[in-house]
Amino acid sequence: MNSDTVFAHASGAGRAAIAVLRISGPETALVLTALCGSLPLPRRAVLRALRDAEGDLLDRAMVLWLPGPRSYTGEDSAELHVHAGRAVIDAVAGALGALGARPAEPGEFTRRAFLNGKLDLVSAEAVHDLVAAETDAQRRQALRQLDGALGDLYRDWSDRLRGALARQEALIDFPDEDLPPEVEADLLTAVRSLRAAVEAHLDDRHRGEKLREGLCFAITGAPNVGKSSLINALAERDVAIVAATPGTTRDAIETRVVLGGVPVTLVDTAGLRDTADPIEAEGVRRARSRAAAADLVLTVIEAGAPLDPGADGLVVANKSDLYPEQRSGVLAISALTGAGLAALRARLAAEATALTQSSGPPPLTRARHRTALRSAARWLAEAEDALEPELRGEAMRLALRALGSITGQVGVEDILDSIFRQFCIGK
Ligand code: GDP
Repeated sequence: MNSDTVFAHASGAGRAAIAVLRISGPETALVLTALCGSLPLPRRAVLRALRDAEGDLLDRAMVLWLPGPRSYTGEDSAELHVHAGRAVIDAVAGALGALGARPAEPGEFTRRAFLNGKLDLVSAEAVHDLVAAETDAQRRQALRQLDGALGDLYRDWSDRLRGALARQEALIDFPDEDLPPEVEADLLTAVRSLRAAVEAHLDDRHRGEKLREGLCFAITGAPNVGKSSLINALAERDVAIVAATPGTTRDAIETRVVLGGVPVTLVDTAGLRDTADPIEAEGVRRARSRAAAADLVLTVIEAGAPLDPGADGLVVANKSDLYPEQRSGVLAISALTGAGLAALRARLAAEATALTQSSGPPPLTRARHRTALRSAARWLAEAEDALEPELRGEAMRLALRALGSITGQVGVEDILDSIFRQFCIGK
């Protein structure tokens, strides 16, 4: 694959002043010379006329020549900052194709960077997360991962396990050599402490994954208490139908808001009541299942109504404008006048932060890592329990393999496609 020279439109779609076309691969210097007359000085931005094979002017563009290995992909690369008109991009892409370069697959630049040892798999995934980051907290988590903090943690565990495995193999290979008895005890201690570290890392209530994927807060309560009005007030736009007739919200309505730097999907659930109407009943069923899966349930009651001691999650008393007397233990709000909404927002932001923030080592961020870590923990437990040295050695090797697959140190050819397919083209 790396013998091809590839190109892609790396900046976003939609109207813009400048579009960036990226080129990478062994023919980059030839392609660039053909397109803009001569090769610019490395890593210097220069203005050049881009011409096709017939000498027709395609655009005047800022050109960067980025020879490998000091480039993102590790290969000879270039960037063309052209005017962002569709016709310009198409004409330049056409000229690049005519010169023998081919359009890149999604994630192909980062895949090449990985294959050339410029970054490990965990950092490559962080590039994807950084490109997709919607909020500040997501950006910070992705950058921390890109900087290698998470990869370093996994590599450190691999190194520790490799050390223990070397000692285990010495025990297997030289059974008669009278190795000191501490060797076995020490390596078992190392395996045990490593498994404890992996399990502590796994037992994180999915904080990192939740920050990456976003939280879900369900808003529930009896019909007509003002759930739709509240979601509209929190979203600052009309997403749900507000009506004086009970039972207007028949399906779960979702909207995305940012609370405490975390993307949160607010789900306005249908008024939870028993009903004969089959459509409304289906809405109620869906509402109950969304609420059951939500990270937080916000139960809305009418300020004047009695408190239900069995109410789920955070209880807010709406329509405080109609009931001036204050009650303790509930957040009083008025979706109509906006009273109490700032306090509610602050409370929800605090909940979102608490559900996603982690102190200490960087958190687990992906199901792929979780699966590999679970498998590593299982093999480490097998190693602890193994009665035969050979079986223990094999279990440790399998644990090492599971750990190595996270950063890409060992046999990951089969998972590369599924990882890089999720990327956008041009990254
Ligand atoms: P839902 O069925 O729980 O989604 O309730 P809606 O949001 O559709 O609201 C039901 C009715 O209560 C509508 O007529 C709203 O205008 C009204 N309402 C909602 N919030 C308030 C509030 O804070 N104060 C007052 N006075 N009326 C409200």
